[in-house]
Amino acid sequence: MTHSAAVSDSSSTDFPALRGNSYRDAWCGQMQPDRVGEEVVLAGWVNRRRDHGGLIFIDLRDRTGVVQLVLDPDDAGEAVALGHKLRSEDVLTVHGRLVERSPETVNPDIPTGAVELRVAEATLLSDADTPPFEIEGKGSSSAGEETRLRYRYLDLRREPMREAIKLRARLIAAMREQLDGDGFLEIETPVLTRSTPEGARDFLVPARLQQGSFYALPQSPQLFKQLLMVSGFERYYQVARCFRDEDLRADRQPDFTQLDIEMSFVEVDDVIEANERLIRHVLGAAGVEVELPIERIPYDEAMSRFGTDKPDIRFGMELVELSEALRETEFRVFRATIDGGGVVKGMNCGKRELPRAQLDALISEAQELGAKGLVWAFREGDGWRSPTAKFLTADELAALNSALGAEEGDLLLVVADKPAVANQVLGTLRNRLAERWGEIPEGAHALCWIVDWPLFEWNDDEGRWNPLHHPFTSFEGELSDEDPGAARALAYDLVWNGWEIGGGSIRISDSTVQERVLAVLGIDADEAEARFGFLLEALRYGAPPHGGIAYGVDRICALAAGADSIRDVIAFPKTSTGGDPLTGAPAPVDEGQLRDLGIRLNAPAPRAKTGE
Ligand code: ASP
Repeated sequence: MTHSAAVSDSSSTDFPALRGNSYRDAWCGQMQPDRVGEEVVLAGWVNRRRDHGGLIFIDLRDRTGVVQLVLDPDDAGEAVALGHKLRSEDVLTVHGRLVERSPETVNPDIPTGAVELRVAEATLLSDADTPPFEIEGKGSSSAGEETRLRYRYLDLRREPMREAIKLRARLIAAMREQLDGDGFLEIETPVLTRSTPEGARDFLVPARLQQGSFYALPQSPQLFKQLLMVSGFERYYQVARCFRDEDLRADRQPDFTQLDIEMSFVEVDDVIEANERLIRHVLGAAGVEVELPIERIPYDEAMSRFGTDKPDIRFGMELVELSEALRETEFRVFRATIDGGGVVKGMNCGKRELPRAQLDALISEAQELGAKGLVWAFREGDGWRSPTAKFLTADELAALNSALGAEEGDLLLVVADKPAVANQVLGTLRNRLAERWGEIPEGAHALCWIVDWPLFEWNDDEGRWNPLHHPFTSFEGELSDEDPGAARALAYDLVWNGWEIGGGSIRISDSTVQERVLAVLGIDADEAEARFGFLLEALRYGAPPHGGIAYGVDRICALAAGADSIRDVIAFPKTSTGGDPLTGAPAPVDEGQLRDLGIRLNAPAPRAKTGE
């Protein structure tokens, strides 16, 4: 899979036709050599101004890019007078003639760099205060994120942000294009609804007209899209806003966007096939070529080879189970782990020399991730150079080298622990080290489906089964009450470069089966009726077999834009504490509003901030 750098900025959607009015009749980005000699009217913001004695140069910016204006006292005295007063971010309209630049002044860094506009008239449309941070430039902002979000409308003027938001719009347009073409109907579902079961905490909205009752904001449109299948729409999609009250991370926001899809009369392969074409089209719009079919990796295999259900398969360093090579070992640490039902797993990091201090740092890193320790070794001859080598026999070392495919000088890392801990630690180290050591090929992209999921996982803390996806996921074969953990879900996740970008399943379309699954999850008939009665009832009125998927639109856009955080592809995101420094949300409300809702606060409310 390749990424072509040429994510074109000059596609026709970037330059919609202009009617031509007193402000402008062309876009700045359209100023190309083929228009030299034309009289044009442009409008935009002062990106930069340079005063060269007599001449004033201004980079004028609109959504499509920048173009250089020249204000020359010989042909535009009034414009020059204005030019002297202009400051960054003032808004202007200018009238002038497009000319070719002399070869030595061509600017190859901007698409309009071969031309400039000789201004005849300039009018100031809006005077700008000095912005709190620099707007021009392609790089990341020197301002902190809090300041950028406080002045988000200015931050969004910066080129990288503008391009990210434009890319997002292009990707969402591509989603709609493909799905509309495939006969899917876009149908909206409510935002004020009942709790939906994606396993996070709900955001609640008090109902004024039924005091003491609350709407929940949807964690996803899951139940509504299933009802739409019962309604007979057969193919649905929605670019849906979802809400989950969770602790935030770089790839999480309290409100986020899903591309939500559902289809009727389908098997797993139908959903996967339609979605592979969708993904190829959408990523194609970002310049990423996707080869079909996308590799499918069973869940167990993903856990064993990569230690995670979201493997980054752009590089090797796969995990290897070493318990077999150590079957007879007398090394206390490995012996106790294996006998206690744990595993010994390792990873070959390739030929690499690390100083002792870095190896010690790796041990601490593994411990911070939850491991009791980390064994490091370099293959040397038939054995190991490692503080652990002396505890292992020559045969064991040879077997370990062979299992890990180790060659002379390769660095080997080994963890002995419970399977979940060994996977978590080595899986995380694998990603981090590949990144740190530059093992991920530049510009490479890799997608895979994770399939054959367990239906349930045992939650040790709460002593009960949890669904790996959600409780409406259908499964293969029989569900046994003795061993629910053996049931395999008809579920699939799509992973891109180690990020889960989508997940879905075939659903349970039989109400009796649905009730049984809820029972395994510890939801008895009364609770099932109270929480999901409407779904169970709908399933009794002729429900077609159905299944679907939902994608994290923010994640897809962040990956396509090469952004570190989904916040960089959301116009108005929240900070890591869930606040919006621009509007001040969340904010205290008036006593009167609370009274209307029948709500009394336990603690006195902080005083409402009046707009700073
Ligand atoms: N509703 C699921 C989610 O939000 C996706 C799906 O099963 O379609 O993760």
